[in-house]
Amino acid sequence: MAATVTPHIAGDPAALTARQRELIALAGRIGRERFAPRASRWDREATFPVENFADLRDAGLLGICVPTAHGGLGADFATYVMVAAELGRHCGSTALSYNMHVCSTMWSGFIADALAMNAAQRADHGRIRAIHYARVIDDGCIYSQPFSEGGAAAAGKAPWGTRALKVEGGYRVSGRKIFASLSGAADYYGVLCTLEHPGVDGGSLRDSLYLAVPSDANGVSISGDWDPLGMRGTVSRTLILDDVFVPEEARLMPEGLYWQAAARYPHMFATLSPTYMGIAQAAYDFTVSYLRGEVAGMPPVKRRMYPTKQIAVAQMRVTLEQTRALFLQTAREARVDPDRDARMRLYAAHYTIMENANEISRLAVRTCGGQSMLKALPLERLYRDSRCGSLMLPWTAELCIDRLGRECLYEAGERDEAIES
Ligand SMILES: Cc1cc2nc3c(=O)[nH]c(=O)nc-3n(C[C@H](O)[C@H](O)[C@H](O)COP(=O)(O)OP(=O)(O)OC[C@H]3O[C@@H](n4cnc5c(N)ncnc54)[C@H](O)[C@@H]3O)c2cc1C
Repeated sequence: MAATVTPHIAGDPAALTARQRELIALAGRIGRERFAPRASRWDREATFPVENFADLRDAGLLGICVPTAHGGLGADFATYVMVAAELGRHCGSTALSYNMHVCSTMWSGFIADALAMNAAQRADHGRIRAIHYARVIDDGCIYSQPFSEGGAAAAGKAPWGTRALKVEGGYRVSGRKIFASLSGAADYYGVLCTLEHPGVDGGSLRDSLYLAVPSDANGVSISGDWDPLGMRGTVSRTLILDDVFVPEEARLMPEGLYWQAAARYPHMFATLSPTYMGIAQAAYDFTVSYLRGEVAGMPPVKRRMYPTKQIAVAQMRVTLEQTRALFLQTAREARVDPDRDARMRLYAAHYTIMENANEISRLAVRTCGGQSMLKALPLERLYRDSRCGSLMLPWTAELCIDRLGRECLYEAGERDEAIES
C-alpha cells in the first residue's frame, strides 16, 4: 500500500475499541490480499465470489454478529458497519452480499433482543435462533435476504406479496422475490412474507413474517439472468417459492416482530450503505495513488503537480470526510427508539453515503483521465458499482429525501386539513 493511502476506514483509530481495531484490521488484510486481486473476475463473469466467502468463513467473519455465547464474534452495530466498509474498499459485490448474510444474524440477534416480547416468545426465539446460529458457526452456512418484489412492499408501503400459510408443524410459502442476491449460493433465503390468517383477506404490514427458506426445499427455484451495470458479483436473480413447506424453526423472528423492528430500530435498514462508504474510500485512494504515479502495473508518471488535479482531489477529500463523519456518527447512534433527530440524521447519512460514493467515483474518473478507466484498473468498476447504492430499497436516495422532508415538516401524528377544491 502506498504511504498516502488511508490505512483505516474508521478515521481516528484512538476512537475505536481494541476489538474494533482488530476486526477492521482483519477485514483490511483479507480485503487487500484476497478480495482485491479477485474483484475483476466476479465483475467480468458476473459470478458469485465463492472463494471470498470461504475466506470470510475461515476468518470467523460469517459469525460477526452472532453472540459470543453461540460461538460468534458478537459485534455490535458500529463494529459491523466499520468492518463492512473496510471490505467494501476491496470488493463491493462481496461486501454487499456479505451484508445480506450478516443481517439475518443481526436482525434475529441484538435487534430482536432490544424489542418487546413476552417471556414465552423470547424463550421460543432463543431456542430457534440457536439453530440458525449453529448452522452459521458449525456448518458455515450462508444466509441471504431477498425481500424485493417489484411492487410497493420493499419500500414499506404495502404488505408483502409473498404469502405464508400456517400449517401443521410450519408454514407453506409462495411468492416471487426479485434481486435475490446470493441466488444459487446461499444455503438459506431469509424471506419476508405476509402471514395469512384464515378467513381474513389481504393482511397488513403488521403480519410480516421473516422466514429462512432452505435453498434445497421442494418448490424453490431461481429464474432469469443477471447481467447488470454494477455489483455484478451479487448474482441477484429471481427467486420463486412455489408452495414451499418450511418448519416452525424457519422463523428468524417471532410472528409480528418484524413490524416492531421496522418501526423501532431504523438502523436495521442502514446496513447497505457501509459497502458504499468503502467504495468512496477506494475511489479516493486510487486517485491519490494514480496522481502520484504509484499504481502497480502503470508507468510511474506523476500528475500531482497540476493545480487542477490538486483542487479536484481536495474536493474529493472534503466530500469523503463529510461522508465519513456522518457514517461514524450514525454508526454509534444505533439503538431501539432513537429520537427524532437521530432518525433524521440516519436518513441524511444513508443518502449522503449512497450519493457521495457515486460523486467521488465520478470525480475520480474525470480527474485521473482516460487511462484510469480501462478495465485493467479498478476505477471503472468502482464507478459502476457506486451507481447502484442509491437505488436500493427500502431506502433509495429518493425515499430518504421523501421521509426526511416529511419528518422535518410534520410532528408525529400531524395531518393537514383537507384542502377544499
Ligand atoms: C446490486 C443489487 C443487489 C440487490 N440485492 C438485493 C437483495 O439481496 N435483496 C433484496 O431484497 N433486494 C435487492 N436489491 C433490490 C433493491 O433493493 C431494490 O428493490 C431494487 O433496486 C428496486 O428496483 P425497482 O426497479 O423494482 O424499483 P421500484 O420499486 O420500481 O422503484 C423505482 C424507484 O421509485 C421510487 N419508489 C419506489 N417505491 C416508492 C414509493 N412507494 N414512493 C415513492 N417512491 C418510490 C424509488 O426511489 C425507487 O428507486 C438489489 C439491487 C441491486 C441493484
